[in-house]
Amino acid sequence: MSSMLDSTLAQFHEAADQLKLSDPLRAYLTSFKTTFHTQFPVEMDDGTLRVFEGYRVHHSIARGPAKGGIRYAPSVGLDEVRALAMLMTWKCAVVDVPFGGAKGGVVVDPRRLSANEVQNLTRRFASELEPIIGPDKDIPAPDMGTNPQIMAWIMDTYSMSHGYTVPGVVTGKPVALGGSAGRYEATGRGLLYFLEEHLKDDGGVSGRTFSIQGFGNVGGVVGKEIHRAGGTITHIGDRDIALRDARGIDAEAAFAFTQAGGGLAQWNEEAGHHEVIAGEDVLSAPVDVLVPAALENVLTAENAESVRARLIIEGANGPTTAEADAILRARGIEIIPDILANAGGVTVSYFEWVQARQFIRWSEARVNDELRRLIGIAYHNVAARRAAGVKGATLRDAANWVGIERVVEAVELRGIYP
Ligand code: NAD
Repeated sequence: MSSMLDSTLAQFHEAADQLKLSDPLRAYLTSFKTTFHTQFPVEMDDGTLRVFEGYRVHHSIARGPAKGGIRYAPSVGLDEVRALAMLMTWKCAVVDVPFGGAKGGVVVDPRRLSANEVQNLTRRFASELEPIIGPDKDIPAPDMGTNPQIMAWIMDTYSMSHGYTVPGVVTGKPVALGGSAGRYEATGRGLLYFLEEHLKDDGGVSGRTFSIQGFGNVGGVVGKEIHRAGGTITHIGDRDIALRDARGIDAEAAFAFTQAGGGLAQWNEEAGHHEVIAGEDVLSAPVDVLVPAALENVLTAENAESVRARLIIEGANGPTTAEADAILRARGIEIIPDILANAGGVTVSYFEWVQARQFIRWSEARVNDELRRLIGIAYHNVAARRAAGVKGATLRDAANWVGIERVVEAVELRGIYP
């Protein structure tokens, strides 16, 4: 199976062929402006010292400061972080927010650390990152395994070393510290808005069936939003459990339970009482729409033939390998690709950054209205580009074309320094 970086580069080169980009330009666009790797010590609760490994990569700053999440996961590695940073560059361009692409991560399973240890790790990692992050340079945000509290610790560590509060250094902060209303929900809500645009002339979300993999920030919120919008979620799963119920699963109740600190498995035991199934059955569920919202590389050459949904909306980054993408394309399964589908998160991160820099607060209604407006524009730009492109072009092709073309335009206008 190809790595996520292989798949991301393969997709880039496919788009670059279609856009007829020159070899030197391809070499530039597949290079990484900054690669930061650190090994750093953290004091554990029992007084021992452990060394952790962390990365931050800036892929491109052609269109603005580098922007992208920080993930805490055992699977983190340089190739994965690079792939995710490159996807962020195209994603910010496709929704036209003025950022470049970045990503970071620490090799750790945060569930195996105490809250105090996570704080120690975060503060030390933040101080290691200090020379390369900042509101004009690189603005981290939450991703897998990180959350608003972790953003608060990064913001505090950075601020204290500068001697004053710098709210614009991260997004996805708690609202009480200058986080934006609606940021926590933005990625999942954005997925719903994209679905609504896509299905506008085809009956909408209500009455359709859904299967969702992942029940964290992205999967939990999109589950709640789909349930509220009248969709029927028949399959859902996280890392601990997968559930099936043809009558529908109340993802809104499950989400409220997990927000209060419980897990999906515990919710099912206490309140849901749905049938427990194997995790992989979530991906092959006989539903209208599949929402992979957990991990990368889950749709592969091995399981792409067993997908039964006719529409896939990628909540996770890179859930479909290049091989699986080709199989799904040949089978006529429509995919709303990650760089479009989950761009609601970075869009509201942009709103949060604007609010921090202007010392103003937007209402949640304003955030959601602006999010819906920008998503509508992005979706229609991509759909129009697809219609104008080669026959058989997919939404992924068109999203890549729009994103890459905008970065190329910025690179060419700026020229080469010095
Ligand atoms: P999260 O840590 O909040 O949630 C991850 C979820 O995936 C959890 O429910 C976990 O149990 C589940 N999971 C982990 N391993 C699994 C497995 N093997 N099988 C099934 N489920 C599994 O993370 P998140 O922020 O929701 O991120 C999920 C994905 O969405 C990532 O690819 C991330 O890069 C992407 N993403 C997140 C945001 C954001 O704003 N948080 C924005 C854009 C994209």
